[in-house]
Amino acid sequence: MNSILKDPFKGWGLNNTSRPVTIAGPCSAESEEQILDTARQLKAQNIEIFRAGIWKPRTRPNSFEGVGSIGLEWLKLVQKEVGLKVSTEVANVKHVYEALRMGVDILWIGARTSANPFAMQEIADALKGVDIPVLVKNPVNPDVDLWRGAIERIQGAGITRVGAIHRGFSSFNKTRYRNIPQWQLPIELRQKMPDIPMICDPSHIGGNRDILQEISQKAMDLNYDGLIIETHCNPDKAWSDASQQITPDQLKNLLGKLVLRHRNMEPGVLNETLEDLRLKIDQFDDDLLGILEERMKVAEQIGMFKKENNITILQPDRWQEILAKTLEKGHNRDLSDEFISQMFRAIHQESINKQTKIMNED
Ligand code: PEP
Ligand code: MN
Repeated sequence: MNSILKDPFKGWGLNNTSRPVTIAGPCSAESEEQILDTARQLKAQNIEIFRAGIWKPRTRPNSFEGVGSIGLEWLKLVQKEVGLKVSTEVANVKHVYEALRMGVDILWIGARTSANPFAMQEIADALKGVDIPVLVKNPVNPDVDLWRGAIERIQGAGITRVGAIHRGFSSFNKTRYRNIPQWQLPIELRQKMPDIPMICDPSHIGGNRDILQEISQKAMDLNYDGLIIETHCNPDKAWSDASQQITPDQLKNLLGKLVLRHRNMEPGVLNETLEDLRLKIDQFDDDLLGILEERMKVAEQIGMFKKENNITILQPDRWQEILAKTLEKGHNRDLSDEFISQMFRAIHQESINKQTKIMNED
């Protein structure tokens, strides 16, 4: 994971492997015109790898499930007439054979497939003896070992050029993301598999074009090697994932605005392990702050209730109960009594301050 000392895309046949290596193209192939129009605009921006889904795994039936094999003919035209490498998603053995027969350059495995070890093994077996780069998306559920296992199955088939795509994780809670990023997980995968290029898919993490820039920047700040961004010649009219797709011009603008910071150098050596551990800590700190913010919002609602019902802010019994409960739970998590009581005293005090403010508002 570090382009200073090694090139994670070495042997992938790209002219330019500087960060971020960018894969772009529509969520789904829709027509020959849409594919060629989008591909030509991307070629003009020096994008080297085109993406388009032919077989689309949709959550519910009766939505657009991809154009199927005809799309492979259009990808062939993108290779021949436009001069881009092409990639598509394969989810079963039939897809693999068809894509290989049509000379697709790079395959990717979707999030629903990488969650299924049987499907992964069948795909890996179908790839034995084939020399093609394969990108493995994280499984829909936040399980690093499942993701790692999917990659290991592909490697076990003798495939040497394997990359990981971070596309976020399903969650029950509604958040601003379509799939919550849980940045600690890809960082953990990278610690376990340091030679695998890590590519961020801000389109499926975000689900919304307005937050693609921010997610892509975060990926660059975390030293990702590449991006895969859904790009469509007419995004609002896209047959799938319309709200997250952007035009080739918008992609150019997004890539141009990315700030690429230098990786932290120790004298002589880049200490990746330390850097990754620090990134993980930073992510947990962000998560803690987010949880504290949510907690304080609830405290404010309680403050509102107390005000309306004329109840005092400080309820000593309740506070004793919280303290006792958290001390016990902290104990089970190997967190010292001193730490737990100091931390929760500070949190409780901040809640009281917030509630006092509400009480004193007219
Ligand atoms: C896609 O890339 O269009 C796709 C279906 O992604 P995922 O497997 O991440 O949902
Ligand atoms: Mn999509």
